[in-house]
Amino acid sequence: MFKNEVDRRKFMQALGIGAAAAGMGVSIPQVVAQSKDGNPIVEDKSQYGKFLVEKLINGDYPYQIDPKILGQPGSASPDRKVFEPFEVPEETKEFFRPASVLDRERLVEKGGKVPNFTRLDYAFKDASWWCHNEARGVFPWYTENGGTQELGERSRPNWRNLPPWDPQDIEMSWHDASLAMKRAACFYGASQAGVAELNHLWIYAQNSEPIEEPHQRPADQQETEIDPRRYFPNAASGPQTRSRQRYIPRDLNRVIVMLFEEDYHAIANSYGRLASAAVGIAYSRMAFTASTLARFINHLGWRAIASGNGEGLSVPMAIDAGLGQLGRNGILITPKYGPRVRIAKVFTDMPLVADSPIDFGVDQFCQVCMLCADHCPSLSITKGGKTWDGLCPRNNPGVYKWYVQTDSCNAFNDFSCSNCKKVCPFNKPNNFWLHRLIRRTILARSRSLDKVMVSLDQMSGYGRDLQAADFWKLNPCQTITGREPV
Ligand code: SF4
Ligand code: SF4
Repeated sequence: MFKNEVDRRKFMQALGIGAAAAGMGVSIPQVVAQSKDGNPIVEDKSQYGKFLVEKLINGDYPYQIDPKILGQPGSASPDRKVFEPFEVPEETKEFFRPASVLDRERLVEKGGKVPNFTRLDYAFKDASWWCHNEARGVFPWYTENGGTQELGERSRPNWRNLPPWDPQDIEMSWHDASLAMKRAACFYGASQAGVAELNHLWIYAQNSEPIEEPHQRPADQQETEIDPRRYFPNAASGPQTRSRQRYIPRDLNRVIVMLFEEDYHAIANSYGRLASAAVGIAYSRMAFTASTLARFINHLGWRAIASGNGEGLSVPMAIDAGLGQLGRNGILITPKYGPRVRIAKVFTDMPLVADSPIDFGVDQFCQVCMLCADHCPSLSITKGGKTWDGLCPRNNPGVYKWYVQTDSCNAFNDFSCSNCKKVCPFNKPNNFWLHRLIRRTILARSRSLDKVMVSLDQMSGYGRDLQAADFWKLNPCQTITGREPV
């Protein structure tokens, strides 16, 4: 049994709540069991919905890495395997046509009347992206100072010369200050937030602070030429000088990771345009929220760099921050929203208290569930076992996981495919008995039980396509969300 005599403060910190929160009647995690490794198994509806979650408080992580193989993500390791260029499978050739061709066909030649790709659906999708796409003046790394400005540089003049804020000035612990930063993240628009010590292994090679050069090296010395076709083969334009080279200073050793829930019904329209609208509005919220949070921390006199997908790998940072686990589909699976999230982060030198990583049975369940692999139109998701090797040049070998063919996925989806989210059993509303059962029993770690659960999940009807025409008939404010009362 978990020792009830354990120091109350340490216990609260392990669970990720503060004394103030407990005193104010905010939902308090309940320890319902102890794992064989001595970790608490916790129920916390506000954070984890109906799942039971093992908190890895002993310094363990729910993944294995080989740092010697992994190196720096994005680095051109001489050992990196060279794979054959991606060949479009015959059965998916229809879907790999350039987006510009498809868009013209649907909008012009067919008069904007193709179901799920109507002019209404396209306009909805494009509008959702605008804030993100215009965010260059908002994201600090596109500005002159690159977000690595000196303390308080962006603050109001009266605050400029103040020392970094110390929460003890108002008799607040650093633990409670960390809760305050997460509270601010959610106030500014995140669905959920966690804190991790920043593992600089996850920073892209081109964004790592060069060890051999002086720390004071101006961050904006180099122009970076980016060819959008590298990321989006359907993109029409060639190389562009988009931004200056940025790096994350090594003394920024904390990262606040934020989740942004995507709309359940719009994702159910995948790969119609509404699924892309769900992605686009999440990206726009990421831009606004991450940059606002970074500015808040700047005003407190600490350094902060806001980041969307750039600068480093978001998924392992989110895992380190206790927000979820990696699924077979290569994306973050969270207890509350399943895989239906986007991730942004803020790097900072504010000495925040890190959250513990969690395990709620995803790895076990994915071993028997193949739904995402079965429904991937570009055949990018493996039905095999985990490996240490990547499947395409953009994978980073050195993590023991299910690698996903990101090249074929990106070539296909152009941000419109979310099939591997739509069909995932974790992508389910909280208010249905079957999903309560899955969430309750998932820690039983029984493969035969998991198989039964996959079958029951499919029979429930969740994960089916939603036609855009039906989406538009929904009650205007109707949504299914992890925020719903459970
Ligand atoms: S988004 Fe998921 S389901 Fe769609 S092509 Fe990519 S891996 Fe496959
Ligand atoms: S669909 Fe199944 S196998 Fe794929 S990530 Fe979800 S639970 Fe894992």
